[in-house]
Amino acid sequence: MNIYLDYQSSKPVDPRVVEAMLPYFHDKFGNPSSLHAVGDVATKTLEESRAAIAGFINADQEEILFTSGATESSNLGLIGYAFRNKNKGNRIVISETEHISIHNIAKYLEKNGFSVSKIPVDQYGRVAIQRIADRVNDKTILVSVGYANNEIGTTQSISEIGKFCRDKGIVFHSDAVAAEGLIPIDVQRDNIDLLTISSNDIYGPKGAGVLYVKEGIRINPLVIGGGQERGLRSGTENVPSIVGMKRAVEIMQEEMPGETKRFQKYRDKLIENVLKTIPRCYLNGHPTERLPSNAHFRFDGIEGESLLLSFKDKGISVSTGSACSSKTLEPSHTLIALGLLHEEAHGSLEITFGRYNKEKDVDGVMEVLPGIVERLRKLSPLYKEEA
Ligand code: PMP
Repeated sequence: MNIYLDYQSSKPVDPRVVEAMLPYFHDKFGNPSSLHAVGDVATKTLEESRAAIAGFINADQEEILFTSGATESSNLGLIGYAFRNKNKGNRIVISETEHISIHNIAKYLEKNGFSVSKIPVDQYGRVAIQRIADRVNDKTILVSVGYANNEIGTTQSISEIGKFCRDKGIVFHSDAVAAEGLIPIDVQRDNIDLLTISSNDIYGPKGAGVLYVKEGIRINPLVIGGGQERGLRSGTENVPSIVGMKRAVEIMQEEMPGETKRFQKYRDKLIENVLKTIPRCYLNGHPTERLPSNAHFRFDGIEGESLLLSFKDKGISVSTGSACSSKTLEPSHTLIALGLLHEEAHGSLEITFGRYNKEKDVDGVMEVLPGIVERLRKLSPLYKEEA
């Protein structure tokens, strides 16, 4: 068996994307800042890519800044906005279940004179507007809430959160990396001012990302140099990866409706079967307001890590949570924010479907999961005591 079920951590580059990128390594190698004909080809490609990606999120071409990826986009959006606008206030609000990159950016801002307040979530990981309202005041300049959580898959009511912020005159940033390609994103409808997306989360290459900056929002650059990207992100643009991101977006626009339906079918079949078959097993995250590709379980009396390794022995790749913090022994901050105990958080397993999965992959999981759980529970003194 060889089944990959960890698409949230990494996705392969679609071969159609690779094909679109190839000419830009050698034949069309120009620098978009060069004024000669070779440079013109690169400039044209760059601007066409900008327009295509703008279309994907219903933005204007001028509102798209190219970066090296999601982490850089969020750094530029949050730090760039906070530093530029510190005369307006010094308070930043983020949700407890933000990706580790946002938490660490917030920590950096705290060390630099800003105060950060965190919005608690409910037992499913949802952010209530009232909880945001409790935390903002006239010093609040920025709110950041992710479109969907990369571990438990819970989605947020982003357009309502955006509207709340807009009515209060507070700039709203959303990290949409977990949601892009799975939920249609529309920065107008969703009242978003700053948005982070990346290429590698939609089957494009690593090394390209976008920060959407709504017209009229002023930010400071973090990378200073030749003045590319309207002076807001210097450095020669990574044209091959940007072309790859454009092609990934085009494919996504065509395939997303069918693909998400397919994932939802697999997800629902898996959740139903797991909860029916395995005693003392629970679904983490919201039962319905969740990404179509995400199933996240916790099992009494079992370590997620042992589950993952048992699956690995059977040729199935799954996850215990975010790959970005998988090397720490700390339990996931997202699961703790749901109110789970440390041992509950450690007993979790994340399965995420993607473009190359088939329905038989769900059957593959169900063939081995009951046996693995039974074996691990027999070895677990914790489970015997409780049973
Ligand atoms: N935000 C979310 C929700 C993520 O899942 C990730 C990791 N894929 C990131 C940000 C950071 O992305 P990258 O490491 O590609 O910069």
